Amino acid sequence: MDLLLVPSIWPCESTWRNRTQHGERSKLGQYAPAFMFSFQRGTDQKIVTNEPEGILWRADTGYGPGAEGTNRINATLLSLVRNEEVEGIVQAMQDLERTWNHKFNYPWTFFNDVPFTEEFKRRTQAETKAQCNYGRTPVPTFVSNTADICAAELIPKEHWEVPSWIDDELFNESSEILKENEIQYANLKSYHQMCRWNSGLFYKHPALKDTQFYWRVEPKVHFFCDVDYDVFRYMADHNKTYGFTINLYDAPASIPTLWPETVKFLAAHPEYLHENNAMPWLVDQDRRPEHNMKANGYSTCHFWSNFEIADMTFWRSQAYEDYFNHLDRAGGFFYERWGDAPVHSIALGLFEDASKVHWYVSLSKPHILQLMSGVNRFRDIGYQHIPYFNCPNSPKCKGCMTGRFTDGESWLMKEDCRPNWFKYVGMG
Ligand code: GDP
Ligand code: MN
Repeated sequence: MDLLLVPSIWPCESTWRNRTQHGERSKLGQYAPAFMFSFQRGTDQKIVTNEPEGILWRADTGYGPGAEGTNRINATLLSLVRNEEVEGIVQAMQDLERTWNHKFNYPWTFFNDVPFTEEFKRRTQAETKAQCNYGRTPVPTFVSNTADICAAELIPKEHWEVPSWIDDELFNESSEILKENEIQYANLKSYHQMCRWNSGLFYKHPALKDTQFYWRVEPKVHFFCDVDYDVFRYMADHNKTYGFTINLYDAPASIPTLWPETVKFLAAHPEYLHENNAMPWLVDQDRRPEHNMKANGYSTCHFWSNFEIADMTFWRSQAYEDYFNHLDRAGGFFYERWGDAPVHSIALGLFEDASKVHWYVSLSKPHILQLMSGVNRFRDIGYQHIPYFNCPNSPKCKGCMTGRFTDGESWLMKEDCRPNWFKYVGMG
């Protein structure tokens, strides 16, 4: 094989062979920047790929459902969802199964604060050959009728209920202020409970006791691109803690004291601040100074967490445990509307190592950008959660306009904070 150009992002030789055998060609190649494709001398065959570098595990063997799945690692697709969202989650499952999971058969785990209906279980299980777990607590050994147990699947009350130190009256007053500031879902208590659970509790559910990685999936999201390698293996093999697709600014009025509380926590626990942290990214005040000002020192730039592929080891660490408990006691999950997205992002930016880097390529400039250690931007996973997209430039993607960020109002464009990430954590 005579490769004129083999960029470092090229995954592995066997991939090349597989592709060329199947005669895959791309018209996009001629428009794609050089870093995105390889081509063979003497032919015009060009192959566009956004796959990450390194050895990638293909679904050739060891990924059949059940016991056949010897190559699968300890991971699950994970969804907190309501019974009445069954249509939406079925649609999201169809997208993810079609583009990825029918090849790898990772189990699904569903969580709910009320028991799942039989209809929910039937309809979701019908979308996958993989195993479905419905967040049930471990089966006591004396129980033989598992059908009964299925009906008892729940998030433990102590993980979902509003904590005892939250004052109801203060919650109501605060939600009025949030409403005045046009904070969505301000007075919906369950939304606050959901954000808190996603921040610091989901990974403590007994059903996840032996699970390390998860891929979070929400109802109605879309996946557009065929992904042909084991994404969880990629995370594990490359020592990644967290994978994201979209970076956004948050509404400062939803988190006015999140950063001040974080600063307090850091003062009490300077030992948790990683020496190679991403603090400059967190405190940027150049691009949207008013956001930083209203959020009292935090740029509000965060990984949009309705998509996340992550290693729960990080959430289970002492640093994160202490940080979450500090925030939980401070009350902002209820008196403000702290989202799990900024909470996760701040923790990653402070307590995660930024020295072991993963290299990616800028969309606008053909030079190589550096991403924070342990954090990976999946540029090959086409994704939409209303109203934002991640639309890679790849023939593997269908139904996603390349480069599109939003199909909503044009002002939404300014909510994109990827340039921030590249500026501080990359080399842009
Ligand atoms: P948004 O994306 O911020 O607009 O919020 P969503 O309404 O999509 O909620 C985020 C996720 O949490 C979705 O997967 C919802 O299905 C789930 N969710 C939100 N509130 C509840 C709730 O009260 N109970 C359950 N079981 N799931 C919830
Ligand atoms: Mn959502």
